[in-house]
Amino acid sequence: MVKAKKFVVAKHFQNEPKATDLQLVEEELPALQTGEFLVQAEYLSVDPYMRPYVLKYPLGITMIGAQVGKIIESKNLQYPVGKRIVGYLGWRTYTIVNPQTCTEVDLISQKPMLLPDIGNLAPSLCLGVLGMPGNTAYFGLLEICKPKQGETLVVSGAAGAVGSHVGQIGKHVLGLTVIGIAGSDEKCKWLVEELGFDHAINYKTENVAVSLRKAAPTGVDCYFDNVGGDISSAVMYQMKPFGRAAICGSISSYNADASSLPKATILQPVMVFNQLKMEGFIVSRWTDRWLEGIQKNLQWIREGKLRYRETVTKGFENTFDAFVGMLQGKNTGKAIIQV
Ligand code: NDP
Repeated sequence: MVKAKKFVVAKHFQNEPKATDLQLVEEELPALQTGEFLVQAEYLSVDPYMRPYVLKYPLGITMIGAQVGKIIESKNLQYPVGKRIVGYLGWRTYTIVNPQTCTEVDLISQKPMLLPDIGNLAPSLCLGVLGMPGNTAYFGLLEICKPKQGETLVVSGAAGAVGSHVGQIGKHVLGLTVIGIAGSDEKCKWLVEELGFDHAINYKTENVAVSLRKAAPTGVDCYFDNVGGDISSAVMYQMKPFGRAAICGSISSYNADASSLPKATILQPVMVFNQLKMEGFIVSRWTDRWLEGIQKNLQWIREGKLRYRETVTKGFENTFDAFVGMLQGKNTGKAIIQV
């Protein structure tokens, strides 16, 4: 009999999530039925989307999220013992999975999948640079911004999982001029000195509009927006005619109640007179091309065009702290929990 631990949503988050909103519960798992397999979690992912998305679900569900885990028992020939899977199994240590019915919430309409062949790279990368955030960067930049040679790209949330990846594709694959916006001098230094960004702006200590005007005196062609709010308004007003903004996330407002969301800066004048295009997207739009994104990102890692960093928190019990820490900007690169 396997004992599993899981975090259950006891109270819906309001403003900043509180430890008491979740409850750590133990349960005994039943014996496997035909077609099922048992997964032992090795790495959990904490991501910004969890904060707003979980509100869509009833209280009592297991806290949502992806994990990489090892199959330790199986009654399904396609999922043999010893293989690893990546899937949206939630914040739990052990899970019985039936790929036909799929357990828990299925956010990005992805069934648990066997890890692709990534050679001797760490399996945890399938939660980051070789997983959902990596594909968000790949498809969001190429399909929504559609950058052209010689253009200038601005990325907000630039030192995070998605942002750091977007900037590197922009710089090292497409040869763009890349400007990142992030929340500390250390992060800005990392972007410029290690990842090769042309410029980085610390939005906590600099006036974004002023610094951006200096860094991109002729304006911005592409904006990959991870944060929304005032930072994004400042960028939008410096976009060139026919500029394209990919709206990937809006983390600056995730802890705000819908009723108290800040009023948007009026963007219509610049959008009309500079004929801008602004398009929101969710990465599941490209579910049918999922492996293409992973293969491309893997290729760029091997070619040395793409670097990554993980901020690893050890211990399943510390998942909530890692989640809140990530929302507060304590991570550089991908925030991961090593179970
Ligand atoms: P990150 O690794 O970027 O972590 C979140 C980061 O957000 C923090 O490190 C922090 O960095 C920054 N942040 C927090 N609060 C603010 C704020 N008020 N203003 C500006 N920055 C802030 O997360 P991900 O890379 O996983 O996700 C980045 C964005 O992409 C999120 O908005 C997420 O929702 C979105 N996303 C969208 C997807 C889609 O399909 N559309 C899929 C995946 C992600 P700092 O120190 O710089 O403040």
